[in-house]
Amino acid sequence: MEFDFSYDFSTEEAASSAVKRIGVFGSTGSIGKQTLEVIRANPSLFSATILTAYSNQDLLIEQALEFLPKVVVIIEKGKYTKVKEALEGKGIVVLAGEEALEEAACMDCFDMMMAGIVGFAGLKPTLKAIETGKSIALANKETLVVAGDVVMALAAQKGVKIIPVDSEHSAIFQCLVGEEKNPIEKIILTASGGPFIGKKPNYLVNVKREHAIMHPNWSMGAKISIDSSSLMNKGLEMIEAKWLFNLEPAQIEVVLHPQSIIHSMVQFKDNSIKAQMGLPDMKLPIQYAMAYPKRIPNDFPRFNFTKSAALTFDPPDIKTFRNLGLAITALHKGGNMPCILNAANELAVYGFLKNRLGFLDMTEVIEQTLAYVPFIESPTLQEYFDSDAEARNYAASLINL
Ligand code: NAD
Ligand code: MG
Repeated sequence: MEFDFSYDFSTEEAASSAVKRIGVFGSTGSIGKQTLEVIRANPSLFSATILTAYSNQDLLIEQALEFLPKVVVIIEKGKYTKVKEALEGKGIVVLAGEEALEEAACMDCFDMMMAGIVGFAGLKPTLKAIETGKSIALANKETLVVAGDVVMALAAQKGVKIIPVDSEHSAIFQCLVGEEKNPIEKIILTASGGPFIGKKPNYLVNVKREHAIMHPNWSMGAKISIDSSSLMNKGLEMIEAKWLFNLEPAQIEVVLHPQSIIHSMVQFKDNSIKAQMGLPDMKLPIQYAMAYPKRIPNDFPRFNFTKSAALTFDPPDIKTFRNLGLAITALHKGGNMPCILNAANELAVYGFLKNRLGFLDMTEVIEQTLAYVPFIESPTLQEYFDSDAEARNYAASLINL
């Protein structure tokens, strides 16, 4: 029972505390680090009481020594001893392994989960946090792509708020504050277009990891950077938006906006369009989700309309960026299709990052996996897990992983 211990986080402390206690899941990633920056800048409002990392023990230890959380989780079990020793005497519970993530998500030492884990791995701990009544600041879009109906139904049942962190969804959420009863005609998700905007297949066939990972406007983790370069990210975001805002697929439009100043828009049935704008900086949607419904002051750089280049808008090139087309098909078809799409994409991106797969080959893997795994119209949660596993196995066999 190497990781066994007894917790005693009193609920009284939770109720009386004015400081919102954040469980930062994925604290060593791009979202996690920026979440900790926001917490560091607002110690009277927020504290970090859980930190989790996959394998970056050094950063996890450094973060834990600064923020002194109640619990840290390192997924790679081989790194447990090093983390445990480094945090000896600090009163921090150290856990290891995948199961520990769900265990931590059930604890009452935090009020809000920052869901900053990347990929399917974020789904189970997020479900546990919802089940145990925590509010969710959701960066991990894959959670909704895989099982959006289950996640939203559970949140409704538990009276849990899911506040988006993804900048587009935060923008839409902000546009909708005060508009709860007003009908939406459509939402317009803006897309920067990534590093390969305007390029054609004869160019894309040769692009490499180093190039694809360099996003022009945002500095993000490797997986979402590749998704942005292939426009899969926008497809995943369309599916995410469907669940978050209860929309029909036809109400979700994508427009290329390379300057990333307008983060997204809502068009109401009276034909009024609201946009949320600002310089691209994930710390804003992160702090908005954490402080909602309040807005808290900060010293982030301000956008200056008179000194900025023109804001431009174009339709996406779905013929070239076929991943977006596949995601739109999955969005319309529903059922387990988005789950299969997500699993195949995670494997394809992994293969591309390991130089095992060309940029355009990612689309082939996804398309073939979508054709292979049987369609289920109304899957149970278990069927989502099974579809994910089947899709992963098949995609891995295509890539020879
Ligand atoms: P990242 O790769 O920088 O960080 C991922 C974090 O998750 C790390 O802490 C890592 O240790 C942890 N992790 C990775 N695999 C794990 C696993 N199997 N089990 C448990 N933990 C694991 O990723 P990121 O860019 O911070 O993105 C995180 C999520 O937020 C993604 O779903 C992404 O789509 C979404 N998002 C990110 C941004 C951004 O600007 N980075 C913007 C919008 C949405
Ligand atoms: Mg986004």
